[in-house]
Order: sequence, then structure tokens, then C-alpha cells
Amino acid sequence: MKIAVIGTGYVGLVSGTCFAETGNQVTCVDIDKAKVEKLSSGQITIYEPGLEKLFERNIKEGRLKFTTSLEEGIDGAQIIFLALPTPPGEDGSADLKYILGVAADLGKLLKPDEFKVIVDKSTVPVGTADKVRDAILKSFAELNLPPSTFYSFSEAFEIVSNPEFLREGAAVEDFMKPDRVVIGTHSDSARKMMEQLYLPFVQDESSLIFMDIRSAELTKYAANTFLATKISFMNEMAQLCERVGANIDMVKSGLASDPRIGRFFLNAGLGYGGSCLPKDVKALARSANEVNYNFKILHAVMEVNRLQKQFFIDKISDYYHGDLNGKHFAIWGLAFKPNTDDIREAPALEVIDCMLKEGATLTVFDPEAMGHVEKVYGDKIQYAAGQYDALSDADALIICTEWAEFRTPDFNRFEKLLGAKVIFDGRNLYDPIKMKDFGINYESIGRPLVKYKF
Ligand code: NAD
Repeated sequence: MKIAVIGTGYVGLVSGTCFAETGNQVTCVDIDKAKVEKLSSGQITIYEPGLEKLFERNIKEGRLKFTTSLEEGIDGAQIIFLALPTPPGEDGSADLKYILGVAADLGKLLKPDEFKVIVDKSTVPVGTADKVRDAILKSFAELNLPPSTFYSFSEAFEIVSNPEFLREGAAVEDFMKPDRVVIGTHSDSARKMMEQLYLPFVQDESSLIFMDIRSAELTKYAANTFLATKISFMNEMAQLCERVGANIDMVKSGLASDPRIGRFFLNAGLGYGGSCLPKDVKALARSANEVNYNFKILHAVMEVNRLQKQFFIDKISDYYHGDLNGKHFAIWGLAFKPNTDDIREAPALEVIDCMLKEGATLTVFDPEAMGHVEKVYGDKIQYAAGQYDALSDADALIICTEWAEFRTPDFNRFEKLLGAKVIFDGRNLYDPIKMKDFGINYESIGRPLVKYKF
């Protein structure tokens, strides 16, 4: 099939590349000229395990192309994916200006005699498909063509909702072997085309879940806000553990073995971040308000997440009796989670901001996200070449992201490098008892030093 993907960021680039991998002819469109030039010259723009190999192969095979021209991108395409940003507006609702802007452009480019399916892959509030359709029709009407063309034009495209569930850091794996593909459509022809496109990705047809468009739009928010709720629940449980002398790791293992609860998203830490969970929780709470429903849990989830980051920062500050001025810290982990270079709403940035405000100095290290962080902080902080280089003469190490390489470090090297043997671990990577044996003052989340070994 011939496919266009509009918006070539994390979702657009992964989707476009994976669709090309199953033999489709894909053109990815982006307004960012520098990005398109880079991609067209064979250089990848994001870090995502396994993506580069697929990207190079499909460019070489001539199945994957990039352009800044929407007209060129959609030329001959049977399916057009919108993988555009939906950032939070001032009131927390999803800002649809990118989606509706492209929809208006499509109204001027689509032809009444060529059937196309337009797929919303972005995370969008309920009712967006109707708005996309209206924007396309309005913009076509502005062309002032004979009235008879309007009817055939309105029949020449269908809007489909196909929210994306890939996880950054495992995006290729998730896209190539999805647990489920949610497709909201009211059209038989669109359904058949989506089926044909996605069948090569799924083990059996039952993983393609067809539903009405509004339910599909809501399903994505339901998934992300449920995950955020799980995280905030465990963070509150960790707060309780600290107060009653229990260990959140043990509570977690007792919970995770219950199939009704599941073992994922149960890690306590310094709160969730990233480009999706924070904005999607806000947006769903806002959408609910708009229909006069107060989605109470979501407000609590946001509040718990805000307090959890503050709680971690206070822990560090309390250790130094509220005086961080002149202290020097090493930070390991900047990306919002491991295996990505994405720093959007990364908790590490909040930690950096607070430390700088309090007069501390910082040397940071992340395996992939250093370039993005340097663009934000410039020479306000120092950047280490490796994880151990960051430790030199630091008063303490602060861990913000659970990269695999931070999990089993050589603690003997800490003695020589760190100015003081103190670790503030926002991701609960180490065993508090082992840390005590190493003579390290170790602070983590919800794990007061347990008295019993098992
Ligand atoms: P992104 O910011 O990485 O990429 C968006 C791209 O769209 C950018 O490259 C931008 O230049 C481009 N763009 C903006 N306006 C454009 C226009 N008029 N024409 C062409 N290109 C344009 O965003 P993302 O992380 O890929 O997210 C896209 C959507 O997918 C969002 O709604 C997000 O919530 C959702 N989503 C993201 C993830 C994720 O893990 N990142 C997962 C699932 C769903």
C-alpha cells in the first residue's frame, strides 16, 4: 500500500519505518526542514533501540522517503496517518492546532475522485475525528468549486481513529508485535484497508480491535491515565512504607504475583514524566470537566505525582539541613525513562532546576539524552563523558533514571571518586542493606533500612 505519515517525530518515524518494513511504500512528511534533510540523508533523528537498522534498510530498498511537502507526501497515498503533536494548552486540554491545521491543508489537496483514509494516530480527545472531518470539508468548501463536487468530496475520505500504544524505549518491538491494535471506524472500506495494513503485524486477527471512533479515542486516554494511576498509587504506598517501617519492594512483589493486578507499572520512584502521561492525565481531566464531570481520581494522580518529585527533592535538602548552597552533585539519568533520549517532562529536569535554584552545582550523565539537556541548560551545569566521570568530588550521587548500566556499578570506584559516600536514589536501584555494608549513606523511596534479611 502507499502510505503517508504526517509528523515525523517519535510516533511518526517509528510507524513510518515499521510500515515500510512490511513492504508498504511510505512517505513521511514534516515541517521541520532540518529534520527532513537529516532523515533524507540517512541519519536517524531519535534514539530508539532497533530503529536505525530498519530505517537504513527501508531507505536503501526505496520504501521509505521524507519530504516537507504535504502535497508530495500524500500524492497517491491510500492511507494518511496524522502523527502530530497534541501538547497541553493553557487550560490542560489537548491543543489540536497542529492536527486541525493539517486537516485544513488536506481539504485543499484531497481530490473528490480518489478515496483516502485519514487516520488519527495522535492522542486526541473524544470528538476530534469529527473536528478533523469538519476542518477538511470547510477548507474544501472555501475553494468555491461547483456544489456538485462537494457531495463527491465528502464521500472521498473517511476518518479513522487508530491511537498508538508504543512505549518509547521499546517502540519498534511494540509496533512490530503489538498486543493490540485499536481501530475506531464506521466505514467498511476503511476497516478493510486498516485490516490489510495491520494483519502482518499481529499474531491473530483478534488482536485487531475494531470499535466506534469515540471509544477508540477514549481508549488511549483510559490506558495512559490508568498507568499513571498505578504509578501514583505505588508512590503513595511508598510514602506509607516510610512511615510504618515497611518496604515497598516487598509490598510490590506480593502485589505483582496477583494476575488481577499485574506486575508492570508498580515501581515507586520520583514520579512519572515523559511526553505522554503528564499531558494525557491533564487532558482527560479537562475533557471530563467540559462535560461537567469531575474525574476525581485524575486530580489526585496529578497531585500525588507533583508531591512525589517534591518529596524526593526535600529528602536531599533535608539531608543537608535545608542548605544546598555550594554543594556539588552528580546526576545519573536525565531521560524520562531508560532506552530513550526523550527528556520531555523528565523528572530529572525538575531536580536540576531545584538544585540550581538552591545554589548547588551539578555534573550530569545520561547514555543518550546529553545533547538534548545541553540545549536546555548550556553551561549552567557540567556534562560528564561517562557515569564515573560525573562522580568526581561530588557531595552525593542523585539517580533519576533507571538505565541498565546504573544497576550494578562498581561501588569500589565510588570511594575514590565521590567526595562523600552518599546516594539519593529516585529509582530504587540498589539494596539498602548492601549499601550499608559498603558504608554508603543511601536514601531511596519507600524502603527504610529493613532489619530482616530473607
Ligand atoms: P513529536 O513531537 O516527537 O513529533 C511530532 C512531529 O510533528 C514533529 O517532528 C513536528 O515537527 C511535526 N509537525 C508539527 N506540525 C507539523 C505539520 N503541520 N506538518 C508536518 N509535521 C508537523 O511527537 P510524538 O511523541 O511523536 O507524538 C505525536 C502524537 O502521538 C502525540 O499526540 C502523542 O501524544 C502521541 N503518542 C506519543 C507516544 C510517544 O511515546 N511519544 C506514544 C503514543 C502516542
